[in-house]
Amino acid sequence: MSDFTHLYGRAFIDGAIADDVLVTIGAGVVVDVLRTAAAPAGAERIEGILVPGFIDLHVHGGDGADFMDAHDDGIAQIVRFHARNGTTALAATTLSASRADLQNAVETIARASADPGAGAEIVAIHLEGPYINPDRAGAQDRASIRSADLHEVAALIAQAPRMRWMITVAPEVDGVRALVEHFRDRVLFSIGHTSADHALAVAALDWGATHFTHLFNAMTGLHHRDPGVVGAALTSRDATAELIADGVHVHPAALRLAVTTMPHRIALITDAMRACGLAPGTYKLYDYEVTVADGAARLADGTLAGSILTTANAVKNMIELAAMPIESIIPLATEVPARIAGVADRKGKIETRYDADLVVLTEKFEVARVWTRGEELHA
Ligand SMILES: [Zn+2]
Repeated sequence: MSDFTHLYGRAFIDGAIADDVLVTIGAGVVVDVLRTAAAPAGAERIEGILVPGFIDLHVHGGDGADFMDAHDDGIAQIVRFHARNGTTALAATTLSASRADLQNAVETIARASADPGAGAEIVAIHLEGPYINPDRAGAQDRASIRSADLHEVAALIAQAPRMRWMITVAPEVDGVRALVEHFRDRVLFSIGHTSADHALAVAALDWGATHFTHLFNAMTGLHHRDPGVVGAALTSRDATAELIADGVHVHPAALRLAVTTMPHRIALITDAMRACGLAPGTYKLYDYEVTVADGAARLADGTLAGSILTTANAVKNMIELAAMPIESIIPLATEVPARIAGVADRKGKIETRYDADLVVLTEKFEVARVWTRGEELHA
């Protein structure tokens, strides 16, 4: 019996918050989920709400490290940091970089992902660029942006063949159509960092793209006579989209618009960079200097350069800033990204046989306790 942990109290199960839930975990997985008025002796009381561990599809770094550093210790630091903040699985995300730097970063991520330790599990690799539009580069290195290259992608995938692959592309870039059509069954293509108009974005969905990278940011916006990439996302039938809910990247009204228009198709992401979790100051993003102040990370010219958001804060912002009900928000940080990352059969829900990736949120939506695959983390 001592091999099992019993947690009892309020929990998010079957899409709703329920009381008197008994969650039993053992051997890294959820063994049983039960509604019962009587807690067994030895059950630990949940002080807050037990929710599935968060899944973040867009993470560059945190706690001083960046996936582009291609450092084993740095990656360990990133996955531990995000796990402490409630993210139990993530997509390691790269930036536009030279061929050698990208190869290096991917090789290191692939090696590190084999053993997540107690940190967040790396369930996907997300290449954010380099086949994007330099006019929508944001904080990405313009000199590294280039035409799509099938051979380069094939070589990168070969480094981590069993990993879920996501690639952010701009449909207007040379070779992107051929790339999407060639790898559409192997890679999840995401439209982003693009000046495409509405028609081209719709065409890219036909080619095989299925996702939008940080909706609203670094893409053409919604105008009623020129509905842009945002309009293509909002009117799509089954495409999914990422949202940065830090209260800086996207207005609360636009957050609400996206979630109500694309129910069960929005994934809350952080786009967290190296400085996430550290004090305000100046940090490096690939070859650029980024200054962190007032809850935002910016280049010298004011361009937003990723964020210092955690998923728990994104959830809190969606509930408090965007005034959305908690039941509609938890899935956007759990179930929906699990589906997009291809791990919905084992992550994103508190359900029997699912990984015991669990978070206790306080009434103020702060992270109180975290389990990664059954192991409780201790700060
Ligand atoms: Zn990013």
